[in-house]
Amino acid sequence: MQTDTMTRRVEVPGGAGRAVRVRAGELVRIVDILGGQVGDVFAFAAGEQHGNEHHSAEHTRAVTSRLFPAVGEPFVTDRRRPILTLVADTSPGHHDMLIAACDPQRYAQLGVPDHRSCATNLWEALAAVGHPYTGPTPQPINVFMRIPVGDDGTLSWLPAPTEAGDAITFRAELDAVVVVSSCPQDLVGINRGAPSPLAVEVLAGQGRQP
Ligand SMILES: [Zn+2]
Repeated sequence: MQTDTMTRRVEVPGGAGRAVRVRAGELVRIVDILGGQVGDVFAFAAGEQHGNEHHSAEHTRAVTSRLFPAVGEPFVTDRRRPILTLVADTSPGHHDMLIAACDPQRYAQLGVPDHRSCATNLWEALAAVGHPYTGPTPQPINVFMRIPVGDDGTLSWLPAPTEAGDAITFRAELDAVVVVSSCPQDLVGINRGAPSPLAVEVLAGQGRQP
């Protein structure tokens, strides 16, 4: 069995965000270091010529005919091009694609207007790597976030069910910027009340090219 080589590793502090640049064919593994932590994941096509092209949850759902991601399935952009593929998952497998990133307005409504948010983390992370995206905050891939849909269509907000070291791995299908936010939400129970760090590992992905 061929072992993928880790080329770089970025730790995302609890409640903060980080961006990594990846090349097509590389693997991106997101690790829940302590367990019980949701990560908001965004992906943007790299390169000026691609403008605001980004992963689009609504276009992805149209391709997969599923509400939530499954191993082997693609994530496509708003131009319907595959940008990521879910290739491995050692977590319990719950990853939401329905709930918007938390943002300053969300926390203002909860009575804490100066609270950090995944939307702020996204914009700061994009600025840090110089990506020019100017569109609205995309619907994230909320890894490790458990939002089951009831028979009557209602949504439940449940704590992230992950244990320490659980991980999800994507393969980049385009040169891309991937942003991961350790969701700072500590007012509802999705992160078990205390945001904790995630790790983003980029692996060379030899032998697993598309
Ligand atoms: Zn959040």
